[in-house]
Amino acid sequence: MQSLNDIRSTFLGYFEKQGHQVVPSSPLVPRNDPTLMFANSGMVQFKNLFTGVEHRDYKRATTAQKCVRAGGKHNDLDNVGYTARHHTFFEMLGNFSFGDYFKSDAIPFAWELVTKELGIDAKRLLVTVYHTDDEAAEIWKSVGVPEDRIIRIATSDNFWMMGPTGPCGPCTEIFFDHGEKYWGGPPGSPEEDGDRFVEIWNLVFMQNEQFEDGSMRALDMQSIDTGMGIERVAALLQGTNDNYATDLIRALIEASADATSTDPDGPGKTHHRVIADHLRSSSFLIADGVMPSNDGRGYVLRRIMRRAMRHAHMLGSKDPVMHRLVPSLVRQMGAAYPELHRAQPLIEETLKLEETRFKQTLDRGLKLLDDELSGLPEGTKLPGASAFKLYDTYGFPLDLTQDALRERGREVDTDGFDASMAEQKAKARAAWSGTGEAGDLALWFDIAETHGATDFLGYDTESAEGQM
Ligand code: ATP
Ligand code: MG
Ligand code: MG
Ligand code: MG
Repeated sequence: MQSLNDIRSTFLGYFEKQGHQVVPSSPLVPRNDPTLMFANSGMVQFKNLFTGVEHRDYKRATTAQKCVRAGGKHNDLDNVGYTARHHTFFEMLGNFSFGDYFKSDAIPFAWELVTKELGIDAKRLLVTVYHTDDEAAEIWKSVGVPEDRIIRIATSDNFWMMGPTGPCGPCTEIFFDHGEKYWGGPPGSPEEDGDRFVEIWNLVFMQNEQFEDGSMRALDMQSIDTGMGIERVAALLQGTNDNYATDLIRALIEASADATSTDPDGPGKTHHRVIADHLRSSSFLIADGVMPSNDGRGYVLRRIMRRAMRHAHMLGSKDPVMHRLVPSLVRQMGAAYPELHRAQPLIEETLKLEETRFKQTLDRGLKLLDDELSGLPEGTKLPGASAFKLYDTYGFPLDLTQDALRERGREVDTDGFDASMAEQKAKARAAWSGTGEAGDLALWFDIAETHGATDFLGYDTESAEGQM
């Protein structure tokens, strides 16, 4: 069996042989980049090399990058636990060329790595190219991909962007067909969201830069940026289409089952998946210096942690659970990411404290939610005011409430939630007038308004969160 750790070594080793510098993952919190909440792909740490602003003494690099996608342009939080292939935290393997090689080398490298080094059956693979990119299609043919396995895509799926601004370009992607026993269709078809055809690797031809005003320029040099999801490749090499059944994540699921004395594959299966995923994102974020708080990055962390904690609670755990799973994570990933070792005591303490505190209001909040729902006719949304009360009084992030409702096929009236939030803010603003601090507060509220009420999470007064 090729373990996740083996695949990482194979990938980095292959590109090292091809003259690439092995560069460590950058931290999840991007340095000097206010446009991005967390590193969401391998290219983030190289952004300025693509635009030509920064130069280093290498033109080829390869990395295993820690990524979190739980907000912003790439947000997979709501997929976790429900699709077989999305995580909030995952590792992206990549090779990069900074004005060195371009398409005609990047594609053959990828094909050789996938079919020879990793030994994936070429007959199970298909590729997509950007609809106007005849050159990429020709190169795929030249390495032996039959014409009917090269799919042209006109949507943004084959034009990659890190976020609203930054280097970008057309891309080509490799998909693996898990076979007819799974539902789903090839990329570009109406059934593409199924779990049968899974995207494993994206090769981006970096040749443009997008600006805030919507304009785009051609970059002076042509570069390569690729990203392969290690968990997805581990899944197919281990004969499953389910990332959560792979060696590393399965170990975390078993730790979760042990800690809660429940069956990893029983009715609580989804809970264990969410816990395993969120344990990784929370722990890595804490190791990179993020602490739970009521705004910004810290609030994203808090949302992830509390969401996991609700799932642990649903498994019947009376005492905090998350911190007890950390040793298992460190065993799995501490060798590749020594920061986990170093931060282990901090991670455990932070998780334990948050879970202890959240447990004080979690039960009462869930009971309120149940009461509200029992009075609601089938098909009606949970009123925004109720969701806001859960947020304000019981410390339930909105997405936690949405996640809890999803299990029951219900939704929240988010407009109503925003309205309650706005009302609360207006009251607070009125109450504060004449204190002499109005200037600061105006700024504070401006920030809130720019970000919209649902994203604005800095405000709290007497709430449960305020006591944290
Ligand atoms: P998808 O369409 O499946 O959501 P994506 O197109 O958003 O993936 P890219 O931005 O192209 O993903 O990232 C490169 C690679 O990273 C993907 O091909 C995939 O293998 C992996 N990847 C992306 N998002 C996730 C995730 N949430 N969890 C695990 N792996 C991921
Ligand atoms: Mg995606
Ligand atoms: Mg995609
Ligand atoms: Mg992609």
